[in-house]
Amino acid sequence: MNVLKFGGSSVSTPARIKSVIEIIKPYLTDKPAVVFSAFGGVTDNLITLSSLALQGQVEYRDLLQSLETRHLDAVRELISIQKQSSVIAHVKFTFNELEDVLHGVFLVKERTPRTLDYIMSFGERLSAYIITEVMKDQQIAAEFLDARTVIRTDSNFGYAKIYFETTNTLIQNHFDAHHNLQVITGFIGSSASGETTTIGRSGSDYTASIFAAALKASALEIWTDVDGMMTADPRKVKKSFTVSEMTYNEAMELSHFGAKVIFPATMQPVMINQIPIWIKNTFNPTFPGTLISNKSNGKGLIIKGISSMDKISLLSLQGSGLVGVVGVSMRLFGTLAKESISVILISQASSEHSICFAIESSKTKQAKRAIDKEFQYEIRGNEMDEVKVEEELAIVAIVGENMKHNPGTSGRMFSALGRSGININAIAQGSSELNISAVIHQQDISKALNTLHEAFFLSDRKVLNLFLVGTGLIGKSLLNMMEKQHHQLAKQNQLEIHVVGIANSRKMLFNEDGFKFTEAVNELLASSEEMNLNAFMGTMIAMNLSNSIFVDCTSSEEVTGFYESILSSNISIVTPNKKANSGSYQKYQLLRAAAKKRGVKFLFETNVGAGLPVINTLNDLLISGDKVLGIEAVLSGTLNYIFSTYKKGDRFSDVVKQAKEKGYTEPDPRDDLNGMDVARKILILSRESGLEMELDDVIVENLVPEDCRGEMSVDAFFQKLETHNGSFEKLLAEADAKNEKLRYMAVLENGTTRIRLGSVDNQHPFYSLSGSDNIILLTTERYHERPMVIRGPGAGAEVTAAGVFADVIRIGNYVNV
Ligand code: ADP
Ligand code: ASP
Ligand code: MG
Repeated sequence: MNVLKFGGSSVSTPARIKSVIEIIKPYLTDKPAVVFSAFGGVTDNLITLSSLALQGQVEYRDLLQSLETRHLDAVRELISIQKQSSVIAHVKFTFNELEDVLHGVFLVKERTPRTLDYIMSFGERLSAYIITEVMKDQQIAAEFLDARTVIRTDSNFGYAKIYFETTNTLIQNHFDAHHNLQVITGFIGSSASGETTTIGRSGSDYTASIFAAALKASALEIWTDVDGMMTADPRKVKKSFTVSEMTYNEAMELSHFGAKVIFPATMQPVMINQIPIWIKNTFNPTFPGTLISNKSNGKGLIIKGISSMDKISLLSLQGSGLVGVVGVSMRLFGTLAKESISVILISQASSEHSICFAIESSKTKQAKRAIDKEFQYEIRGNEMDEVKVEEELAIVAIVGENMKHNPGTSGRMFSALGRSGININAIAQGSSELNISAVIHQQDISKALNTLHEAFFLSDRKVLNLFLVGTGLIGKSLLNMMEKQHHQLAKQNQLEIHVVGIANSRKMLFNEDGFKFTEAVNELLASSEEMNLNAFMGTMIAMNLSNSIFVDCTSSEEVTGFYESILSSNISIVTPNKKANSGSYQKYQLLRAAAKKRGVKFLFETNVGAGLPVINTLNDLLISGDKVLGIEAVLSGTLNYIFSTYKKGDRFSDVVKQAKEKGYTEPDPRDDLNGMDVARKILILSRESGLEMELDDVIVENLVPEDCRGEMSVDAFFQKLETHNGSFEKLLAEADAKNEKLRYMAVLENGTTRIRLGSVDNQHPFYSLSGSDNIILLTTERYHERPMVIRGPGAGAEVTAAGVFADVIRIGNYVNV
């Protein structure tokens, strides 16, 4: 026979109760026993009710009323009319009893643990009773069994201990005498003197295990609302998946560290009797679920799961008094035991100078008071410090028996946490090498779970979380490209890209699950959240997602002001925006230092030559030991277009006007002609080559004639420019005479950077440059005879977006686990 247990979530509505009965039916020939929790949420309701009554708030009566209605409605919906009245009468009678107790609490303003246990017992008593009656109504020979008659415990209310010998005998005698299906209340028992006790929140799993062991069942089945024991809590880690097999010890460790799906003590009774446990899903009954037994196939998994526990405090005791003095730990932990405070984790440095341990945060004050008292003489004598307390912490633990055989496990865990910028306050490894746990800040818990899950279970699969600012041509092209490419990336590169934040100058919007690439901009436009850079950064940092990348597709200087704090928050940056790298040299260096310190990336390939591989090539040369001797480059697509179309007979001002009409120039063409954009680019290349240089150090030939500078409209500028056509014509004629071509060139030579309009002969690589192409010649120690040439379209939203995309993917390749 099997023992089946259905949790609160499986019986939270009449419809669910119906499907649970359908699940049970095929087992009936095998005489199973079934254990039920209270209807979903009822135990919590009962606690709330009693708290209200305790505080003298009459509102408890309304809540009691609605709880009664919920149970009566279930009866009315599930039981045929002719059978209803006796059941309704019984339910009402039970609620009267509950009302009496609550009234007592209300009057006396006292709620002892004993009273609370009694109040909580109503949930299971009602649910199992009602379900028994529903089954009987469906001609199933079922009998209600109030577990208080057979489960004998001590009087430690709230966490009562089972007296197994008596309990086993009582259960066996009961089953010897009763042959119908037993429908059993979970969670409750009774003391020798007949007081109602409970065995710990979520304890119905344990009840079922106690029955399974006493009856030597063939299996214990825990039916819940998920597909078994999963690699992590599916509510916290979306990519978690079911582990098909694990050992009792693994399940125990996982649940000890917070995997709520099974109550930790559940494993013990069945483990002794080698009874396997199945975790099954009421909502997906045909799914095999998880088998927990004393062996595990492992399927190559180093660990079986990751769990976490919230609301932890870390206490530490330190001082010279601890060194070599026998018995300090005994006194410390004895004190905690006397206060009934359970210690979740202990870590002691080998110097014996300090002991640090984690407890539930609600017990912090009590623990500190008790320990400070126990060691008051040592503290007064300065042999020990007062207990130090750190709060707002959580524990994350990885669990699995295979760790023993995989020496790199802890390294992998801590390097993954480190890369995500998660601080670790304490570490503990169980001596059985079954788990490694780390105490971290509460706010980092979700990021830690996801990071570790990625590192251990999805090591080939990575998710990049993008925060995109700027939805102009480049931003939009980037989204389109990601839409086209994301399936392929997921399939071939195991890389998933999620755009989780988006903003333009007016609005911003976030979605932790990732926007659809095609919808992101529309959703942004429809959003009511106004853009505010500080708020954007705040939310991005607070979302605390692993592998976050800030993608700046603006050309705003203000945005670059946030780069350092972004990098310092462990978020990588990808950007075509040149402002940061061409600002002060000090800022340039600060950004590199911040990225290095945090192990994140700052990539800006598109700062120079749009999508052309300029910066990466330069870096590759330098890393491999080469040295840059000189750079010669045409770095403005606009100016190259102008000078490669400008020919004899043309008026220079017309050529510029034409370029503007085609959309090749900035709205004010003087922003191209003044050479500042080229200056920023060559500055970045020079700095990347190792030169310490400021923008002012770049000698720029400004092509805007002097009287055309300053405040004036674009039209006025064009009119004025006409008066200078002659001098441009002269330059062109001189070049033509030598059979040379005009080019606006940036040159780095002997540590000096200069930008000028010059002419090149037909032997020069710049001679044949056409359209809006860029060209970069790198002369290095290795490429000395003939320079390395990088040439191609150096402007345009499409190629720039492609370069940004490539940088994003590059980060995906860096975040190896
Ligand atoms: P029941 O009402 O059936 O007793 P619980 O709510 O007590 O159900 O436990 C099931 C829940 O446990 C799941 O919905 C899930 O959110 C949570 N959980 C936490 N860790 C895990 C894990 N590793 N695997 C599966 N579920 C988990
Ligand atoms: N109903 C109890 C609780 O909510 C026991 C259980 O569900 O397992 O804690
Ligand atoms: Mg449960």
